[in-house]
Amino acid sequence: MSWQQRIENTLYQRQQQGLLRRRLAVTVSAPASLTKGEQHFTHFSSNDYLGLSHHPAVIEAWCKGAQQWGTGAGASGHVTGYSPCHQQLEQILAEWLGFPRAILFSSGFAANQALIFALAESSDTLIADKLMHASLQEAAALSPARYRRFPHNSLEGLTRQLRATETVNRLVITEGVFSMDGDQAPLAAISERCREHQAWLMVDDAHGIGVIGEEGRGNCAQQQVKPDILVVTFGKALGVSGAAILCSDAVADYLEQSARHLIYSTAIPAAQAAAVLASINIVRYQPEHREKLNQNIGHFRTQCTQQGIMLTDSLTAIQPVIIGDNHRALAVAQTLQSAGHWIQAIRPPTVPVGSARLRITLSAAHSTQQIDRLVEALHHAL
Ligand SMILES: *Cc1c(COP(=O)(O)O)cnc(C)c1O
Repeated sequence: MSWQQRIENTLYQRQQQGLLRRRLAVTVSAPASLTKGEQHFTHFSSNDYLGLSHHPAVIEAWCKGAQQWGTGAGASGHVTGYSPCHQQLEQILAEWLGFPRAILFSSGFAANQALIFALAESSDTLIADKLMHASLQEAAALSPARYRRFPHNSLEGLTRQLRATETVNRLVITEGVFSMDGDQAPLAAISERCREHQAWLMVDDAHGIGVIGEEGRGNCAQQQVKPDILVVTFGKALGVSGAAILCSDAVADYLEQSARHLIYSTAIPAAQAAAVLASINIVRYQPEHREKLNQNIGHFRTQCTQQGIMLTDSLTAIQPVIIGDNHRALAVAQTLQSAGHWIQAIRPPTVPVGSARLRITLSAAHSTQQIDRLVEALHHAL
């Protein structure tokens, strides 16, 4: 089949199955408010869980940074793109999260892929949770290592894979908080299994960092787990963009030799690093944002229970409402949008077939009244 035919067929099939994806141009002028053309919505789809993307101190840090150091880093960190501000951010990250080193990347997607491609050789085995993020799934599948998966959050499944694989090097990969379900990995137990079987543990805590645990150190710190490799991202609760890998001195030195996403890619702007530093400062020393978020999560769950709306067990800011059918999920999301609530229907292949859902995310920026109105609209739409 020619490319032209294949492309047209794929688009046609996606359309028929209610799976065609489209990007919409929308404006987010405040953390909880979204505008599309002339229409205004309350924003329940963002990962900006603490509302820090619009925090005056973060914005000021970015603006001042741009005035001092320009808008772009101008080169890879291996050339001239690594400034004292980048260095300071790495040092603060390492100190905050309790690791010897941190290495910055331009995105979580890049950090995950860089790590897997730098580490995995054909004699190694990667063992990952089935619901792991696409960036890790893809890297693991493309890497020369053997790739095994275990059922979501199943300790039994993980143990089975650990027993079935006997290569010298095994890397167990999971997430702190799963992005489409909002549930948390049993990290303490997983870490123990890894130790028993002498496997390394890598945790991607993109949705846990900033929002969970003391000083927002994330799910690992909360469960008192120290993985061999921790990935954190700055585009969600920290309200900016970029990511870091936290690891030992040796792994950091090794990444500097072999992580292609690091070596052959322009460093994040120094001004952006300054904004992330400002954001981390707020996350660590202003717990009121986290407390407000937790109040909002609790309030949403209580109100839904009172209205008979079925929720999952998620205790995090990600509160999915599972619908099942793709078309119905789209229709419900549409109804909610008509009522002024911006919520997206998430469909396969992002989530397993038959589990299309509304992915509702809560933020510290939502008011009680906004949440009440959403629950009311959900009650009518479902
Ligand atoms: C969002 C996300 C990423 C990607 O991070 P970006 O910085 O947005 O590229 C990686 N892992 C998980 C679990 C995520 O949710």
